[in-house]
Amino acid sequence: MILDMKNVSKVFGRFCPKCLEETGANVNSSICPSCKSVVGVNNVNLTLSQGEVLGIVGESGSGKSTLLQLIYQDQKASLGDIFVKDFVDKEGNRKNILDANLNELSYLRNSLMSMIYQNPRLGLNYKFSAGGNIAEKVIMSGNKKYDEIRKRALYFLEKTEIPVSRIDDYPEYFSGGQQQRIQISKALSSNPKILLLDEPTTGLDLSVQAKILDLIKELQHEIGFAMIVVSHDLGVIKHLTDITVVMKNGQIVERGLTDQVLEDPQHSYTQLLVSSIL
Ligand SMILES: [Zn+2]
Repeated sequence: MILDMKNVSKVFGRFCPKCLEETGANVNSSICPSCKSVVGVNNVNLTLSQGEVLGIVGESGSGKSTLLQLIYQDQKASLGDIFVKDFVDKEGNRKNILDANLNELSYLRNSLMSMIYQNPRLGLNYKFSAGGNIAEKVIMSGNKKYDEIRKRALYFLEKTEIPVSRIDDYPEYFSGGQQQRIQISKALSSNPKILLLDEPTTGLDLSVQAKILDLIKELQHEIGFAMIVVSHDLGVIKHLTDITVVMKNGQIVERGLTDQVLEDPQHSYTQLLVSSIL
């Protein structure tokens, strides 16, 4: 097991005793009737095994991106336990990442996990060159040897089909698709165990999307990291993932093999989602 989430919730605003009980898929609402807080994620349990590729689908507001942010600690969960392989205390016991101090947080975000955002501005530093972005990530993960950093930057730029002659160019001088490729290079350069992707190809031209999805798939096969892909686009989920969970009002309503979920959905909400009525 590489990721284990237990009873994880995220409430935006005041957290009253009714927030979790009176929201969710069954009542078709994410707003607490008592205190009016928005419940982004409601009591989610999720596991990910080594090398597994998991998709999360759902409408906007279903909590799928929030869930990803809780794993990467872009946002702090209100309640629950999140365990990540190799994140342990001094005695070697697994430790809830919600209790991480700043050093540990840096280790989590720079060594164990990486995130690829829909908007490359969130994943790349525009004041650094393409190579500088990769170097930043490698250095943050603990490797400070100049030769190795340079070698790794060249390796991943080549892997993601960015001309290595452009290593010193700044992100803004690359196309949208190339900026995503640089984000992928940067994310993988620290050898993360888990790669998180939030709508990685949304907003790109279809032909560019297809190439980037193929690239992600190839790299995952080759390197073998585990991956969680959040997308509203079922085509992306079908292309990339083995297992899919469906979220509604902050809760998981269905999970299964991706082909099964998309071809023979059991939950009425998934049926609507798949038939694109939503
Ligand atoms: Zn409440």
